Amino acid sequence: MTDSPIGRVVAVSTGTVRVRPQNIAGDWRPMLWWTATSRTWSEPMPIWTFAIEHPRGLVLFDLGQSPASAEPGYYPGGFLGWAFARQASFVVERSLPDALAGEGIGLPDASIAVVSHLHQDHAGNIALLEPGVPVLVSAQEHGLLDAKTPEMHGVMPRHVSPKGANLLPVPLDNFADNSPATTVEPPAALLALGGGPCDDPELSGFPGAWDLYGDGSLVLLSTPGHTPGSASLLIKRGSRSPLLLVGDVTYDPTLMPQGIVPGTGAEGLQRTTTAEIVALAERLPGLVVLAAHDPAVPHLLSTAH
Ligand SMILES: [Zn+2]
Repeated sequence: MTDSPIGRVVAVSTGTVRVRPQNIAGDWRPMLWWTATSRTWSEPMPIWTFAIEHPRGLVLFDLGQSPASAEPGYYPGGFLGWAFARQASFVVERSLPDALAGEGIGLPDASIAVVSHLHQDHAGNIALLEPGVPVLVSAQEHGLLDAKTPEMHGVMPRHVSPKGANLLPVPLDNFADNSPATTVEPPAALLALGGGPCDDPELSGFPGAWDLYGDGSLVLLSTPGHTPGSASLLIKRGSRSPLLLVGDVTYDPTLMPQGIVPGTGAEGLQRTTTAEIVALAERLPGLVVLAAHDPAVPHLLSTAH
């Protein structure tokens, strides 16, 4: 017996990433300063992809690191390439299909994918999805693809928006004070999933929320800061504890109640988003926050009630 459409939720990792300590917990030093001078790395951290069973099909949240990222020429050259390499060091350990196979899941089982943001360790495997599988991304993040220099936001369009990809921009602005001119029309393929803006007042502290299938079990929340359009997925499981997949809002959810935010991204937005998530955890007892690179994720998932 279950009171929720959500079935199994599992996490698989495609590799590891090490970052600078200031990336995990920012301090007074400007980003460029620690990017240039830091001599220490964190321990290697996983690169999680989450698979969520829903009666409408398997939902993937974040798609992990691509084996192609180990090949020369994957990253930009020049100053940006230098900054990328100084800030994060990736090791690809297995392809996404191999990682999922370890849990008995086939990548072709995925009905839709959702990405927290368009960094390559979250959206680098879009090209591996079956043709036409929708990839939901916040409309604001999607807009970075048309920016003058997406790479300045760490976004490499040729890897995360490959030919044939079915990226669906999700408007996440129903709680924001937007003029109609800035509101994005939802694409028909997104509406065809049966969802729409989620007007649940307990989520109104976030700029926007979108109920994926219209059943309230999977709600994409606007959680900007790490990138301008970063989003998190709230999984409501009836009497079981709700889960919040936050991407790179934090590397370590235990730092969030202290207001400690990563040293990359927009600091003010990160603080606002972090405070909203801490407040949400008070409104949703038992909320389990799962970060994209947190080594504690398997433990947190296995102990969630
Ligand atoms: Zn990121």
